Amino acid sequence: MMRIHNFNAGPAAMPLSVLERAQSELLDLGGFGMSVMEMSHRSKEFQAIIDAAEKGIRRLMGVSDEYAVLFLQGGASLQFAMLPLNLRRPGKSADYVDTGSWASKAIKEAKITGNTNIAWSGKAENYSRVPKPNELKLLPEAEYLHICTNETIGGIRWMQFPETDAPLIADMSSEILSRPVDVNKFALIYAGAQKNLGPSGLAIVIIRKDLVERAPETVPIFLRYSTHMADGSMYNTPNTWGIYMVKLTCEWIESLGGVAAIQKINEKKAGMLYEVIDSSGFWHSPVEKDSRSIMNIVWRLQNEALEEQFLAQAKHMGFVGLKGHRSVGGIRASIYNAVPLESVDALASFMKDFERKQG
Ligand code: PMP
Repeated sequence: MMRIHNFNAGPAAMPLSVLERAQSELLDLGGFGMSVMEMSHRSKEFQAIIDAAEKGIRRLMGVSDEYAVLFLQGGASLQFAMLPLNLRRPGKSADYVDTGSWASKAIKEAKITGNTNIAWSGKAENYSRVPKPNELKLLPEAEYLHICTNETIGGIRWMQFPETDAPLIADMSSEILSRPVDVNKFALIYAGAQKNLGPSGLAIVIIRKDLVERAPETVPIFLRYSTHMADGSMYNTPNTWGIYMVKLTCEWIESLGGVAAIQKINEKKAGMLYEVIDSSGFWHSPVEKDSRSIMNIVWRLQNEALEEQFLAQAKHMGFVGLKGHRSVGGIRASIYNAVPLESVDALASFMKDFERKQG
């Protein structure tokens, strides 16, 4: 068996032990004589799985009973639409911070259904940083403030989250469970699963229960948070396979010592790449130091021809997924929780080698 060095941005590398466990349980899960994909979602066996997945998220993130944990479909992209429909009442406004591609997509969706205030935009600076607290132009009457805590394409993240009186909403798709976060600071957190949680086709929503009833009656039943909360994420047939994989992934993180332990590993991995990038003028990071992501590391070489050469050689050496997003170019290594330290170490060595040969 050959496992490649996988730096894909999502779907992305999954922990080997999780895949092996899923493989071992594929034909017969827990003595039931079938896989999780063949079970009724209404069975008590599956109920135990979804309960364990929810408990895993609650334990790892410290989510109190004041919040519901929902397993929804439609990816994080559906949340761009559901969020304003549910939480921004008719005639009211919401604040959004534009930190890059994903925040912009959330904004585009919010603008369709109501007043959307751009509290700050990093566009003029090529999305090279997150704002300082005093740069945010917040509306006193805003229904909520939306941020994307880690921009997967631009490689920037909020080191500290903004203080706000309005409910704080966060898209944590590309960094959930990568560092400890005080959930109580947030009214709603959402994330597509396909980076740090499991496979694609599933989104996690952590929502303060008192907000669930805000949705006006004009919101379609399926698009209301209250519908999914009332039915324990089983209003319709959920992504049973995805939920099972989240359960296994949570168990894996717990076995490593939890989120604080994995943060240490993540910082070490990111540090190894930033060290090479900063070590000479050969590479450069387009991101200001205070805003650098520890999940998506982006960098450039002197010109595109050299970048092409780097990518071609990297591919040849067994490194996958390093091409920057098509909208920005350059190089990007996505080093989510499941990307082994050894893969990052191998990439750092390959970079040094490439630099030496070119130099
Ligand atoms: N937000 C962020 C930060 C993302 O990285 C992505 C996907 N790359 C999305 C939202 C959209 O997620 P999905 O494809 O699950 O809809």
